[in-house]
Amino acid sequence: MNRTARILLLVVLTAVCRQGARCAGADFAERFTDSTLRIDYVLTGRADSVQAAAALRAVQCSPGWYGRRGALTDSPVEGQSTLTLTDDATGDTIYTLPFSTLFQEWLATGDTVGPRAMEGSLLMPRPRRKAHARLHLRDNRRRTLARADFPIDPADVLIAAAPLPSDAAPRHRLFEGDSTSSPKIRVALLPEGYTRAEMDLFLEDARRAVDAILSHEPFASMADRFDFIALAAPSVRSGVSVPAQGLWTDSRYGSHFSTFYSDRYLTAPRVWRICDDLVAAGCQHAIILANTDTYGGGGILNMYTLTAAHHPKFSQVIVHEFGHSFAGLADEYFYDDTDALDETYPTDTEPWEPNITARGEEPVKWQPLIDAGAATLVEGAGYRPRGLYRPAHDCRMRSNTAPEFCAVCRQAIERMILFLTQ
Ligand SMILES: [Zn+2]
Repeated sequence: MNRTARILLLVVLTAVCRQGARCAGADFAERFTDSTLRIDYVLTGRADSVQAAAALRAVQCSPGWYGRRGALTDSPVEGQSTLTLTDDATGDTIYTLPFSTLFQEWLATGDTVGPRAMEGSLLMPRPRRKAHARLHLRDNRRRTLARADFPIDPADVLIAAAPLPSDAAPRHRLFEGDSTSSPKIRVALLPEGYTRAEMDLFLEDARRAVDAILSHEPFASMADRFDFIALAAPSVRSGVSVPAQGLWTDSRYGSHFSTFYSDRYLTAPRVWRICDDLVAAGCQHAIILANTDTYGGGGILNMYTLTAAHHPKFSQVIVHEFGHSFAGLADEYFYDDTDALDETYPTDTEPWEPNITARGEEPVKWQPLIDAGAATLVEGAGYRPRGLYRPAHDCRMRSNTAPEFCAVCRQAIERMILFLTQ
């Protein structure tokens, strides 16, 4: 391409981009105010009979919308569940968000302890007109598990105002990308089990977390699209609960290891409180650092990443878990113990996650990367030694010794970053 053609192409591309940004912005402004609507709900059900229902607990509103303003009804991944916001007057879908829940993971365990309940929270831009927020939960075969329909009236006096930023814990900007794309991806670093006297330690850990994420591609080369913000919100006591050691404590988000009796699975049941802090930080993505040296973590799509901050593998684990919560990536590792066959991914169902497949022969969903010599097809993934396949021998989503994400995971993360910042 000669110089004149290059300049012409640049002018055309610039015009297209500006047009796109203006259209997305105008579309957003017509349907939404610059504020965040939050719905808190409860999931209840039984794992032995795979029953589930969702019920509304509260609706809140807070100033500022910190999520995407373009491609409001699209998504690069399916997720276990979908939030759909529809306009009452037109019936149009005006916003969608894929998400996963710990509750759906629990359903797949077949636990026979009886009915249980778990908290959930979802953020969306506040609609100008009456709307319905619809939750569609699916099982591990991607079949409908439950639907819930919550009417949203923006004029409802019982929509509570979230605490004003002045009431919240101090915010610390850890990293500010210099991209002019709008909006940027705002990620909150939240402290779990750090006392007020340990806030400097938390900020140090939070900086290490950001460094770890931004040292991995494609985060490294797209860092200008991110803001990382730490919220200095203390717990009364130091540390988190470690049931395998008989240790229980009262931490901010109630985190504990041994989730579903897996000693290294660290999760946080106080989802509403996490969402309080996420909103106070003005962010959409939560990374929670647990003040413990016990090994473990967890990551759930559009809920949170949670990682032990003082284990030697912290840097690797936090990036792995962020792969789950940010991009919806699956675990590429598997267990050799076939007696304990994991039912998370039945082999008769193609997983929605971009980096594992139940297809044992090509073409598979990452075929273009196989054709380009950047990926392959290896048996063993999604906790199963057989019947599920991964795109590389090793990857950050498989092991702590892999140096980086595989090509398929890198592409999935890049797609998510581009989607959120278009
Ligand atoms: Zn991978």
